[in-house]
Amino acid sequence: MAGSRAKISIDLDALRHNFRQVRKAAPNSKVMAAVKANAYGHGMVKVAQALDEADAFAVATIAEALTLKQANISQPIVILEGFLDLEELTIALEQGLICVLHSSYQLDLLEKNPPSDLTSDLKVWLKLDSGMHRLGFPLAEAESVQRRLQRLAGIEMIGWMSHFSDADDLNNPKNRQQIADFQQATQNLSGERSLANSGGILGLPESHFDWVRPGIMLYGSSPYADKTAEELNLRPVMCFSARMVTVNHFQKGDSIGYGSSWECPEDMAVGVVSVGYGDGYPRHAAVGTPLRVKGQKVPLIGRVSMDMVTVDLRTQPDIKTGDEVMLWGGGLSVDQVASCASTISYELLCAVTQRVERE
Ligand SMILES: *Cc1c(COP(=O)(O)O)cnc(C)c1O
Repeated sequence: MAGSRAKISIDLDALRHNFRQVRKAAPNSKVMAAVKANAYGHGMVKVAQALDEADAFAVATIAEALTLKQANISQPIVILEGFLDLEELTIALEQGLICVLHSSYQLDLLEKNPPSDLTSDLKVWLKLDSGMHRLGFPLAEAESVQRRLQRLAGIEMIGWMSHFSDADDLNNPKNRQQIADFQQATQNLSGERSLANSGGILGLPESHFDWVRPGIMLYGSSPYADKTAEELNLRPVMCFSARMVTVNHFQKGDSIGYGSSWECPEDMAVGVVSVGYGDGYPRHAAVGTPLRVKGQKVPLIGRVSMDMVTVDLRTQPDIKTGDEVMLWGGGLSVDQVASCASTISYELLCAVTQRVERE
């Protein structure tokens, strides 16, 4: 639609290209693609349909898992937070959803409500805490937790999972420590193993084990602070664009926007672009954050408002009302925008709001 003020378009070929980079980096591992949070804002069902070569999908919540089921996604669906209560456990069982067990309250619940009277087993991963200190059983309890699980009927344990805390920084020695500790805690126990997120997949081959769990790299953003997506041969999947609403001409000393925080250093053209934090453009994007018009970068000036942002058009005298403005994707890396807004691409990709048209 020509008239849309802010829109995202999703490049499913780029998504499949990025999936092939996962296979290339970890050729001997199965792939559990992370599609939680609406596939990092890209549209969970369409992404899952496009990734028909994935061996499984990982979501955060039961509701997300049910959405995939209702869309007839046939691969196994893993709920990373498992179930919180009996109601969720029952749904997981009935729908054949795979649960991650990370805490003893989940084992208590299973012991009080053994799933044995149902026709199919409840499939589970056991999550170990190798240093993230968020979810997971202590490494030292691995064996006892497995024994506790084995006493229950109606459960099929797939394997062991853990999560990196610092894989965005390959030089951090914590990564190797986590790999070694996870390896050691599970080496004499039965079950498959899974540790690597995108950072581990592309930079820590010893972390690949039986299953890898890519998220951000599928969407074409770099998992590392010091490497670009381009250097990693990843292609951006989301393109976020808006339009030039108007081009104003102000005089030296005129201030722009809320708080009058930016002053024109000379007589100049200022563009108003049809996107703001109400669309998911980050309010904390600093002055100088690049936007792209006609293949050229222009810097953000003033504060981001709810529906609009302002840009310095001194280098772009030919821009007109209605012209397309790229916010990220389309030659402008989301990682760069994230860095200008003191955040990470994950947050920006997830934050695009309902108001934005989707293509
Ligand atoms: C989100 C998530 C992933 C994917 O992480 P990326 O850094 O996006 O690759 C993998 N494992 C778990 C447990 C997750 O929550």
